[in-house]
Amino acid sequence: MSLRPAIFLDRDGVLNEIVERDGKPASPRTPQELAVVAEAPDALAALRDMGFALFVVTNQPDVRRGLMTDAALDAIHAKLTSILKVEEVAACRHDNADACACRKPKPGLILDLAARHGIDVSRSWMIGDQDRDVACGQAAGCATLLLSRPYNSGANAGATGTIESLSQAIPVIAKTCAPALMNGTRRVY
Ligand SMILES: [Mg+2]
Ligand SMILES: [Zn+2]
Repeated sequence: MSLRPAIFLDRDGVLNEIVERDGKPASPRTPQELAVVAEAPDALAALRDMGFALFVVTNQPDVRRGLMTDAALDAIHAKLTSILKVEEVAACRHDNADACACRKPKPGLILDLAARHGIDVSRSWMIGDQDRDVACGQAAGCATLLLSRPYNSGANAGATGTIESLSQAIPVIAKTCAPALMNGTRRVY
């Protein structure tokens, strides 16, 4: 079986709205706090139609920090995947002190998904809203798109491209893959 290209999507600030806690960008801790970004369903459908497998790769240290339960995180992901069609949500539930291989900016989440789902990382993209997402994608061998936000360093992150909203990823990725699109097929590869 030939390897497939994929889009690896960060969760917070990309697929769901950031929750502001104590004036800082934070993650939802209950399904009620999870607000899916309005354009995300259509954007993901478009990327899937272009031939990409879709995965979520997310750091979720709040369980480890005693701020929420594993069950709450599972419930949040159940709600997320009831709205957004992705093949798998891969979450690192560790904290820095655990020195795991999967907490972004380490590439473990992507490399594990790629191995288990037959993904060609060299034809894949990581989309995130933090510098650590860009670093993770680069370490895994993917192209990267950074959502420009007040809380990241933007141009300093060294991403393949910078976008203002998730839907802007579609023309950027389509342009990169234009030759295949011009062959009369909707599949990019
Ligand atoms: Mg994020
Ligand atoms: Zn981890």
